Amino acid sequence: MATAPTVKRKPWHVERVQHQRTKDMRWFYNSRKWRNFSKDYKVRHPWCVDCEREGVVKASKVTDHIKTYEECPEAFDLDRLDDKYFQPQCTSHHNKKSGREAHKK
Ligand SMILES: [Zn+2]
Repeated sequence: MATAPTVKRKPWHVERVQHQRTKDMRWFYNSRKWRNFSKDYKVRHPWCVDCEREGVVKASKVTDHIKTYEECPEAFDLDRLDDKYFQPQCTSHHNKKSGREAHKK
C-alpha cells in the first residue's frame, strides 16, 4: 500500500509577521554588513544631527534610518547601503523618534 506523501508541519516555523505591529528587522540589524556600515557611518558622522540643530554638540550613538521600511525599503538593501538614507543621532533623540514612529499608526 502506497502511503500518501505527508507534509510535515513545523508549528514553530509559522510566520507570525503579518500579525505583528512592528516588523521584525533583526535580519537586517544583526547582519555583518549593517554593523560594519553603521560603525563606519558613525566615524564619518560623529555628532547627533538633532543636538546640532539645538546648538548642542553630542556624540552620535545610533545610525538612524530617516525613513521606515514601509516608506523606503531601498534603505534596507544590505548591498546598497548609502549615507543618504541615514542620520546620526544620540540615544535620547533616537528614542524620541522611535517613540513617535511607533505611535504614528
Ligand atoms: Zn541628540
